[in-house]
Amino acid sequence: MATINNIAVLGTGVLGSQIAFQSAYSGKKVVAYDINDEILVKAKERADGLAKTYLAEVPGATQAKVDAALANLSFSSDLSVAVADADLVIEAVPEVLSIKQDTFAKLNAVAPEKTIFATNSSTLLPSDIAPSSGRVDRFLAMHFANRVWQFNTAEIMGTPETSKESFDAVVACASEIGMVPIPMHKEKAGYVLNSLLVPFLSAAAQLAAGDYADPKDVDKVWRIATGAPIGPFQIYDIVGLNTPYNIMMSGDEGQQKLGKWLKENYIDKGRLGMATGHGFYDY
Ligand code: NAD
Repeated sequence: MATINNIAVLGTGVLGSQIAFQSAYSGKKVVAYDINDEILVKAKERADGLAKTYLAEVPGATQAKVDAALANLSFSSDLSVAVADADLVIEAVPEVLSIKQDTFAKLNAVAPEKTIFATNSSTLLPSDIAPSSGRVDRFLAMHFANRVWQFNTAEIMGTPETSKESFDAVVACASEIGMVPIPMHKEKAGYVLNSLLVPFLSAAAQLAAGDYADPKDVDKVWRIATGAPIGPFQIYDIVGLNTPYNIMMSGDEGQQKLGKWLKENYIDKGRLGMATGHGFYDY
């Protein structure tokens, strides 16, 4: 099985910056790529910010460890330089199919033969993107969750063409970078987590929007009856209300009704979740 030592991360936004820092923190050599040098200035600031967050939040983090992570991390806006020696490329560019397809087509032209390609897409299937990669046997999805140092799952999902060797190498790499790998047997939109979470959050919204119970009481029953530490509306506040709103508005009529309820009663009132200090709860 191929060993993954060198990782390139494409896109240095919310998730890309976290994946790059976490991989570097775990001892991998990482190159973070973005489309121009101005964005890379921001990417470096994000990395410095993550160093502070790790010091504050990651058990056992020390200044020496975060300094070593920063030393393992370099930046480039030249795709061929960024991936010149990559064993694995993890793509975290915007969630737009054409951008992803275009990115992988360009990548295939410059990446070495050995390089495995992974997409961090939340909603697209790897088989939607794989044909553009020119290497369907070395293409799969590796899906991280926001705040990778804390919510450390990596859902790994291949297509029927993904080779076992590539799949196993990425599963092993996920463990090496401190993730808990969740290998999926076949493709499923939403992977495991969102296949559970999206209907769960929607069911909770139906209870509150239909005025069957208060959001706080919905949370209360979930916590007491299942022993879970938090309920669905506490999850809404952590995720931020815009993402569930967008998902609802792209659903059927019933889902759109829930989306409108969320917007009128919360989003339009500036109650966007924990990040803004107000959501279903005040922080
Ligand atoms: P983001 O908008 O924060 O970052 C996207 C980055 O990609 C930006 O830095 C942008 O400059 C860069 N970019 C734009 N066009 C590019 C191109 N052609 N080539 C390379 N880079 C380009 O987005 P994000 O929230 O980090 O999401 C990125 C991916 O991660 C998406 O596929 C999303 O579904 C997935 N994801 C996001 C989350 C989340 O909570 N934000 C969680 C899991 C997975």
